[in-house]
Parts: sequence; structure tokens; C-alpha cells
Amino acid sequence: MFERDEVMTRAGTPFSVFTPYRNAWLARLDGAALRAHPVRERAAALARSSDAGSPSLEVLGFQRTNPRDLRMPTGMGGARTLFDEFMQRIDRYREQRDLPAVRGSSYLSVHLRFGTISIRELARAAHARAGGGAAAWLSELVWREFYFMILHHHPGVVDRAFRAEYGGIRYPGDASYFLAWCQGCAGYPLVDAGMRQLDRTGYMHNRLRMVTASFLVKDLLVDWRHGERHFARKLNDYDLAANNGGWQWAASTGAMHSPGSASSIRKRSPSASTPTAASSARTCPNSPAFRTDTSTHHGGWGRSSSGPPAYGSGRTIPSRWWIMRRRASGPSPCTGARRAERS
Ligand SMILES: Cc1cc2nc3c(=O)[nH]c(=O)nc-3n(C[C@H](O)[C@H](O)[C@H](O)COP(=O)(O)OP(=O)(O)OC[C@H]3O[C@@H](n4cnc5c(N)ncnc54)[C@H](O)[C@@H]3O)c2cc1C
Repeated sequence: MFERDEVMTRAGTPFSVFTPYRNAWLARLDGAALRAHPVRERAAALARSSDAGSPSLEVLGFQRTNPRDLRMPTGMGGARTLFDEFMQRIDRYREQRDLPAVRGSSYLSVHLRFGTISIRELARAAHARAGGGAAAWLSELVWREFYFMILHHHPGVVDRAFRAEYGGIRYPGDASYFLAWCQGCAGYPLVDAGMRQLDRTGYMHNRLRMVTASFLVKDLLVDWRHGERHFARKLNDYDLAANNGGWQWAASTGAMHSPGSASSIRKRSPSASTPTAASSARTCPNSPAFRTDTSTHHGGWGRSSSGPPAYGSGRTIPSRWWIMRRRASGPSPCTGARRAERS
């Protein structure tokens, strides 16, 4: 919607906090910003296709994949279908976007990535509609631009913490934990459901991205960059700015960071327990965890567990309790960093 340095603080510097950025962004959202840009008259400026025709997907660096099997509506027609369908439910977006088992969000991210729908059209539709659902959704579109802006002004975030004071954190998490997390065998059904959804569909619900990322970094103590790379390889809607921003948010190293600790996020998520458990059960139908009482699904194995149950492929990682004991026996990497910051 805006150039990366069009929405700046009064001092002319880039924002680093989302809410004031969003307020400034919304204040600039006038008719001119929302109007479709005329493109036909500029068509002559486009590169002419060569005699050899359009380059193939492979030449462009993509591999052929299976959007039909994924039942992903493709192209501009597919984007239009998704958009029209979402407009029927946008008023419920604020509540339903929190529930992974409910079709609450727009699923338009892959179309925004590939340009098969216009961001201006989406913003115009949300802006024209009164109500909390549309306002919440417009705010998500602003998050997208916020992370573009962060990446533009701070290109170092690609491989470094945005908050320099956290650049030196060491992550002692074992490679086997990372592997188990990637394979959806971490032992926490909500986390595993998200990872299996990613593996099978190339998509993961936003709340599950938040939970799985936080879990990897703050419970398994694995460097966020490993998780970021895994998402980059798997997500059909992969976007460097949004993915990096999301991971740095989860790791609390970013411009915006998760409130409290990762475990508080994970504990909060199951409060919508029924639909979330339903989502987990759909994605991990063979997990032994789903043959037990659904009310306990999200707690993992708990403190009293004598050890990890056989799970999925049999590859398991130590329980949260065990990890916490390991963590307690040495200084937490985060605590270390905070101490360093104060001194
Ligand atoms: C760890 C992590 C990694 C992520 N990686 C990506 C990524 O690679 N690509 C990507 O597009 N989004 C990413 N997101 C943001 C978000 O999860 C997805 O945009 C969203 O799940 C896409 O589903 P949707 O289109 O139904 O979203 P909706 O809820 O319908 O939102 C509408 C649009 O707003 C934008 N949006 C929504 N939330 C965010 C957000 N937190 N940050 C930036 N833009 C947002 C997206 O373009 C999205 O399509 C990531 C989030 C986290 C926590």
C-alpha cells in the first residue's frame, strides 16, 4: 500500500513498534491510497517477452508441486473465490481467527505472495466495511507492511536479532529436538498438529505458527533461525519479511515480541480447547494421545510423567518436565542475555 519509507515517525525515522505504525498507516489511508493504480498505461514499460516465450517455472527457480492435491484455489480466479467467500465471514474474523479448527481467516496469504490478488482491493474492502471483524483483518494487512518496512530499514534482521542485545544468546537445544519438532513428533499434540499441517499442506494456521515457533525456541531452546529456515522451505505463502518478523516475535528478539514467556502463550492456546483439540485430532489421527481424554491433550506429558510415551513414528523428545530440569540446572540463555544487558 505504501512505500517502505512513506509511513515514518514525526522525526522522520522508521517505526519499530507496531501500534504507532498502524495508527500512522491508517491516518494516511485516504482515497488516493485505496484507489487501484492505473496499470494499462504503463504496460508498455514492461519487459518484452523473448521469442522463446515465457520462462518456465523451473527457470524461475520453482519446482513443480501439487496445488490440486492440496485443494488450493490457484490463479486470480482462485484468489477471487477465496476473497468472495471470506467476505461472507469477515464480520466473525476477530473471534474465529483464534481457532485453528475453524475456517476463520482468509487463506489469501499465498495469493498475496504471488500477486494474484491486489492488496489495494483487499484494503479497500476492509476499510469500507464497518465492524470489528473488518478492522481486525485490516490490522493484519498492516502487520504485513510493518514487517516489509522493518526488513527494508533493518536488512541485518535476515540473520541477526533485531534487538542487538539478544544477538549473543546461545541456544543449547539438541539437534534431535529440532528433528522431532520438524517431523511433528514433539509430543505436544497442538504443536505436532501444526507441524504436520505444514508438512502436508504447505500452510499453517497463524496461531499454530505462533505456538510451534515459541515452543521450538523457548521450550526446546533451539535457535530461531533453524525454525525460520524450515518454515521458509515448507510454506507456500513464504515471505522473508513476515516469516522473519514472526520468528523474531516468537523468540522475543524482534521489533515486536511475544508477551510474557513462550510457555504462557502455549498454555493460553488450549483455552479454546474443543475446536483446537478437534484440529489436532484431524491432523494426527494415529497419535496415541488422541485415544486418551481430550481434556488433557494440550498439557503434554506433565510433571508426573515417568517418561515420554511412544508417539507417532517412535521418535520422541524429552518431556517439558525433563527439559525444565535441564534448564534449571544451568543458567537460562535468556536470563544470561538480560544480565549482560543490565551490566
Ligand atoms: C513464525 C511465523 C511465521 C510466519 N511466516 C509467514 C510467511 O512466511 N508468510 C506470510 O505471509 N505470513 C507469515 N506469518 C504470518 C501469518 O501467520 C500468515 O500471514 C497467516 O497465517 C496467513 O493466513 P491467512 O491468509 O488466512 O491470514 P489472515 O488472517 O486472513 O490475514 C490476512 C493477511 O494479512 C497478512 N498477515 C496476517 N498476519 C500477519 C502477520 N502476523 N505478519 C505479517 N502478515 C500477516 C497476510 O498477508 C495474510 O494473508 C508468519 C507468522 C508467524 C508467527
